[in-house]
Formats: sequence, C-alpha cells, structure tokens
Amino acid sequence: MYLYNSLTHKKEEFIPNTAGKVGMYTCGPTVYHFAHIGNLRTYIMEDVLEKTLRYSGYDVKRVMNITDVGHLTSDGDTGDDKMLKGAKREHKTVMEIAKFYTDAFFEDCRKLNIKTPDAVEPATSCIDEFIKVISSLIEKGYAYEAGGNIYFDTSKLEKYYVFSDFKEEDLAVGVREGVEEDGNKRNKADFVLWFTKSKFDDQELKWESPWGIGYPGWHIECSCISMKHLGEYLDIHCGGIDNAFPHHTNEIAQSEAYIGHKWCNYWFHVHHLNDETGKMSKSKGEFLTVSLLEQKGYKPVVYRFFCLQSHYRKSLVFSWDNLKNAEAAYNKLIEKIIPMLADKSGAVDEKAFGELKQSFLEALGNDINTAQAVTVLYDVLKSSANNATKLALIADFDTVLGFDLIANAEAAAAEAEAAGNDIPAEVQELLEQRQAARKEKNFALADEIRDKITALGYEVRETRQGTEIKKI
Ligand code: AMP
Ligand code: ZN
Repeated sequence: MYLYNSLTHKKEEFIPNTAGKVGMYTCGPTVYHFAHIGNLRTYIMEDVLEKTLRYSGYDVKRVMNITDVGHLTSDGDTGDDKMLKGAKREHKTVMEIAKFYTDAFFEDCRKLNIKTPDAVEPATSCIDEFIKVISSLIEKGYAYEAGGNIYFDTSKLEKYYVFSDFKEEDLAVGVREGVEEDGNKRNKADFVLWFTKSKFDDQELKWESPWGIGYPGWHIECSCISMKHLGEYLDIHCGGIDNAFPHHTNEIAQSEAYIGHKWCNYWFHVHHLNDETGKMSKSKGEFLTVSLLEQKGYKPVVYRFFCLQSHYRKSLVFSWDNLKNAEAAYNKLIEKIIPMLADKSGAVDEKAFGELKQSFLEALGNDINTAQAVTVLYDVLKSSANNATKLALIADFDTVLGFDLIANAEAAAAEAEAAGNDIPAEVQELLEQRQAARKEKNFALADEIRDKITALGYEVRETRQGTEIKKI
C-alpha cells in the first residue's frame, strides 16, 4: 500500500512499526458548533483510509480526541476561546455545549457511515497527563515560564518547520498581519502549553497546576492523548491540511522533545472543501451541515459519494449543482442494482470476484485513489459476471466505500413494490392484459389498453428494468 506522506512530500510504501498492526491518530472536532460538511470531508476520507487498512488485513487501532478546551480562533495563541464563544452564543455552560455538539458530531458521522474510532477522549479528561508532559518538557529545558504562562521553546529544536512545503517567513506567528504579538515569547514561533495569565477572565474551565490555576493550550492535547493510547511510536496521524501548521508542527515539536526520538512516520492531510466563494465557514454565508443537506432532500451518503469521486489531496468545490449531479449518479447506481436483487441465483464466480477485488485494492492502495475505486465499482456493474458475483462484490467494496448501495436498492425495490400494491385491481388487470398483448406482439391492442390505463389516471412506461406504472 502506498500513501503520500506530508512529512517527506513523497508517495511511500506504507510500513507500520509492528507488522500487521496500525496505530492511527485523528484530530477530532472542536465541539463549539455543528461540524460543517468541509470538516466532515476530512473525517470521511480518514474513514476511508482506516477502512482500507482494515480491508487490506491490518489490525487498526484508531484514536480521536475531542477538543473541549484550549482551541483559540487563530489556531495559535491569539483570538477568542472557541468553546467560550459557543457557550456565550447559546447561554449555556462550556460542558453543556461540549456534550451537545459531541453528540451531534457522532450523529453526523453515523449518517455518513463514518466509523467511531476505537478510543475517543475529550481533552478535559486528560489534564493530569498534560501536566505530566509539560513538567517534563520544563525539566528537559524545552519549555519555560513567562508572564505566568508556560511556552514551548522552538529555538531548542534543530528543525521546527517540519512540513517544509511552507515558507518560514509566511508562517512565523506574529509576522502574519493582524495577529498581535505576545511579548512573553522568547521566539516568535514559541507556543503556549499552559495558560495561567489568561486574557479570558471569564474562562470557565480551570485546573490547579504547578504553575497556578489555568488551562492547557490546544496542541498539547493531541500529543498526550495519542501517546496515552498508542504509545511513543505512532504509524499515521491525520487531519485537515490547515492542521499541518501550526497544530501538527507543534505536536511534533513537543512529542519528540518529550520522548527523545521520532514519533510519527506518516502524516495524512486532507485538502479542503471550499464553497464557491472560497472558504467554508460556520459564521458567514450558508452554514453547510448534514442537517441542511437532509432538509434539502439529500441522503447523507450522497455527500459521501460526492467526496469519494475526488482525490483527498485536491481541494474540492461544493455547490448544490455538483451535489445534484452526484445524486443523479448515485441513483443510477441504485437503479442498476434493483433488478439484480430479483435474480441472484447461481454461485459467486470466485475468479471474477478475485480479479475485480484486486483492481479495487490496487486503486485504494495507490494513495487512497477513491475515484479510481468508484470506477472499479462501475466495472463490476458492466462485467459479464452473474448477479450473485456482482452483488457480493458490491457488498464487499461497500465495507470501505460506505455507500449503503444494497440497502438503498432493497429499500427502493420495496417502495416500488408497495406503490405497485396500491394500484387498483381494475388497473392491475388491464396491465396484465397489456403484458399478454405485448407478449403476443399485438402492439395495437397493447396501445389501446395503455390508453385505457391512462384514462384511469395511471402512466405506463417501459424502462430497461421492465414495465413501470405510476399515478399521473
Ligand atoms: P475543527 O473542528 O475546527 O477542529 O476541525 C475539524 C477538522 O476539520 C480538522 O481536521 C480540520 O483540519 C478540518 N477542516 C476544517 N475546515 C475544513 C474544510 N473546509 N475542508 C476540509 N476539512 C476541514
Ligand atoms: Zn490535533
């Protein structure tokens, strides 16, 4: 299996630390609001990565944090506290907000067939771990106290900007326009590990620490939660591309300073979903959520299908038109599967099954090329294999793709049958007479009967799937 590694900027063969086992860490949501469908693009593609690893035979342990403290609006050490902002907006406590939006996040994930990670840990439940690691960083000379806060000293590292796609001068905190400088920092890139002297007097969540009452910075939580569950050698770390700097850069700095060796081998970054105006936002323009998709009549899996048609390392533009096209393609797939369900006799052709499965694996093994994997799904439908083989392959692929194709085809078939049962006996009888006339090639009679059916308020149509009848 080959994966693009943001750390080396190369597609590399994936080799885990322990043969057959994979430790995978995912930056979880900041639970101050609903996730937008951009956030969820990242979680969908990470889910495909996890499921591809499992499909390829790896025993995966996946861990995710829930950010319920410490994340400021700038992603660095400036701006408002996101959780506090959410609590004020809704006149609730931070913990009430955290609970509500954590549940909402997992509900969205369920609708999008995103598997819940094996371990999910809120930052607020790991304060002791953070204090332990920060104390050790101070002891080792990697962190210092200034103005009451604890900072990580980036000048102690040989290389801080590890994702060197970025230019140092573009990234250095404090150089960016509009970001106020923190006079306590020894170096511009230093970042906060623990806040005591906070500009947020109304900070709700505070804990005792050796440095006074305060709360952790955002970055320390991911290092600590990952190491707590996955140890000092991590195979894959995932997140959206915006997390590469400063969040992941800071995670690497503090983790490796703490453990004294390389921490994570592969970094998997999902590029952004943008709307037509540019960036996706929770405050400006249309707030695109899974609920909004549902309100507009879209099945959430259609959004998953839309995402998988593009590569995770390319940014993707969302528009309602694009989603509508994805829905049409999805519905066509369902229409092709429905008639297969009625005739699935015969044994699975093991040779055809093996060949198509191999193509599917190759597509995903080539840096999670989901668009190619979907093409293999179309190859299955076009293939000359029997329906039993095709259905077995569709079900097998769906363990990774998560499109619910067979379940939705079964539901559509049942719906059509129920609609058919509602047809009055008189119309049903005419329909049967018309079928008999067509069989005898008496098309004049068949047309005459169809006109009678039309007069009774029903439309008869011949489709590739057979005869369809519906109320006009
Ligand atoms: P947050 O809840 O802000 O911590 O973000 C959750 C995840 O969504 C992170 O992995 C972000 O990198 C990712 N993310 C944020 N904006 C987008 C976007 N427009 N498209 C894709 N992923 C995003
Ligand atoms: Zn993180």
